Amino acid sequence: MEISRRDFLTKTGKAGLLSYPAMLALGLLKPAPAHPFQLPGHGAGKHIIILGAGLSGMAAAYELGKLGYTCTILEARNRAGGRCWSIRRGTTSQEEGMGLQTARFDDGLYFNAGPSRIPHHHALTLHYCRELEVPIQVYNNVNEASYYFSEGKGSLSNKKVRVREIHNDVRGYICEMLAKAIDQDKIDTALTKEDKEKIVEYLRAEGGLNIDKLYRASDRRGFTESPGAAERAGKIADPYRLADIIESGFMSPDFYNVAEYTYELQMTMFQAVGGMDQIAAALQKKVGNQIRFGCEVTEILNVADGVKITCKQGKDEKTLQGDMCITTIPLPVLGNIKNNFSSEVSRAIDYIPYINTGKIGLQFKRRFWEEDEQIYGGITHTNNELTQIFYPSYDYLGKKGILIGYYNFNEKAKRVAGLNYPQREQLALQKGKLIHPQYDQEFENSFSVSWSKTPYNMGGWALYTSETRASLYRALLKPDKNIYFAGEHMTYLNAWMAGAFESARKVVADLHGRMSEQRISYSGSK
Ligand SMILES: Cc1cc2nc3c(=O)[nH]c(=O)nc-3n(C[C@H](O)[C@H](O)[C@H](O)COP(=O)(O)OP(=O)(O)OC[C@H]3O[C@@H](n4cnc5c(N)ncnc54)[C@H](O)[C@@H]3O)c2cc1C
Repeated sequence: MEISRRDFLTKTGKAGLLSYPAMLALGLLKPAPAHPFQLPGHGAGKHIIILGAGLSGMAAAYELGKLGYTCTILEARNRAGGRCWSIRRGTTSQEEGMGLQTARFDDGLYFNAGPSRIPHHHALTLHYCRELEVPIQVYNNVNEASYYFSEGKGSLSNKKVRVREIHNDVRGYICEMLAKAIDQDKIDTALTKEDKEKIVEYLRAEGGLNIDKLYRASDRRGFTESPGAAERAGKIADPYRLADIIESGFMSPDFYNVAEYTYELQMTMFQAVGGMDQIAAALQKKVGNQIRFGCEVTEILNVADGVKITCKQGKDEKTLQGDMCITTIPLPVLGNIKNNFSSEVSRAIDYIPYINTGKIGLQFKRRFWEEDEQIYGGITHTNNELTQIFYPSYDYLGKKGILIGYYNFNEKAKRVAGLNYPQREQLALQKGKLIHPQYDQEFENSFSVSWSKTPYNMGGWALYTSETRASLYRALLKPDKNIYFAGEHMTYLNAWMAGAFESARKVVADLHGRMSEQRISYSGSK
């Protein structure tokens, strides 16, 4: 019996019998129109050597493969993914000058040592999740139920305070002050009387001000006794005094309202189901047969008719020749590899700094942050070495869980990087239990990562100023003869996977344009 396409779709689609990939395979759907990358021409017969099997190296090989190029990826580690690394039972690491560390987390539990969040506007990262069939889920980045913890002298210091209390009190007081200033004509604006009235009305709503335009506590800042049945109306505490909030340090940069105001951190955010390394694993499925693992590149040379790359694999030294090379090796590592780059390029590689950053995963036998404190995902902020505690956005209501016990940057991360693994654990527990005393009872084991001490990265991500963008960065945007530079450091999307993907596409477009003698310009996915 013949079945029409329409009937087929109605019957199978409605019943949920066919998955999206199956429908694609049967030609019943067009591929998601997200961000296809269809360049004209082909690269058959050309050999491209790619240095590094992180996201940028693998994405470059994947796209070049679609164009018919032959790629060889040299990867120093015995795994793919680079910074896209999730720590689970059996994961090992050995940082510079340290012993071997092995994760002892329970099966099924993990934390993301590198990327943990995908902004909704990182269209290319989401495009690859779609194309490579990596399931994603919402990552809860903003949580008013989490805490601020300020070490210091004020009356609100050295104890945890719910984010919603500080947010609503500060917002309320600021709106009250502004409304008062406008009412008393104390601000110098060219606004009409009607405009001013509208602004004051807005401030009343925004700050939760009363009829007299004064800030008084409301349920916005939560309850000290929850509302319930019968006579239980619920109790609200008085707001904190603004002077106490200031004195306790809650108006310092450590507690700025970054999550809602920073473009990259605004909800909705996503994560790959089962660990962010699932994105790397999906790419590896496509290009894994081109990766040579355990191959540490030791020399990168431009030669007359292409490139000559030397690497160390175990005790052996190997040399490969190719037509062109794409290096995605992070700059602090690349600077120590022998090369014949131009002096301009060498200078850029040597002088672009990378951030110090680190995380620790702490496994607990009970999800006390959910059970006792109603915290489901989100971040607690501190002004001490921890900087942040991240609560997991997976396995809600589960039994055990892993908290990211600190995620710190710059000087704080540098100090913590100087500690050995047990000392880092001790620090995370000692400071963390000031916020969650349950740490004492519930802690099981930990695994820490300092990116500045992690071989083959030696830093978190590239840091630029407007001066270094104008000088050093530009030197790497062009190829050095037959060698192209890719990776998050070659974009304005530093610290994001989207940077790795955008730069891979940019370099593939440039290289392919040159090899196929076409004018191709890549202007980004959006
Ligand atoms: C702490 C942290 C948090 C982050 N958070 C997020 C986030 O929430 N969301 C997000 O989207 N992004 C995040 N990122 C950024 C994201 O992880 C990176 O932008 C991206 O993974 C970089 O990919 P890459 O291919 O450019 O570099 P890498 O992943 O570093 O790949 C480089 C590869 O080169 C290899 N290599 C190095 N030296 C050699 C050598 N001598 N020979 C051969 N191979 C070598 C390395 O082993 C590695 O595999 C975070 C990064 C960090 C560190």
